[in-house]
Amino acid sequence: MPIAFSEFLKILEYVADKKEKVVSYIDQWYPSTKTCSVCNYVLDELPLDVRYWTCPSCSTKHGRDSNSSVNILRVGASTLGLGDVRLSRTAISA
Ligand SMILES: [Zn+2]
Repeated sequence: MPIAFSEFLKILEYVADKKEKVVSYIDQWYPSTKTCSVCNYVLDELPLDVRYWTCPSCSTKHGRDSNSSVNILRVGASTLGLGDVRLSRTAISA
């Protein structure tokens, strides 16, 4: 049986509390998909069918969802006062 999104959030908060974790919410209108996670350039629009895009400012190629997840992580961490959170990158040896 499907549950309402609000019920899902209650379950998520309950489980997080039991595990001594925090659920952080961000502004639902924050443009996480349209904001470049490298240089913070914000596109005017990004149609739903566009899954990949290139930033006109820094030329970084983004996957819509992966770019969005990086931005959401940073905004959530910032909201919790964790400062500037950077994702770890795999070291590439020459
Ligand atoms: Zn950029």
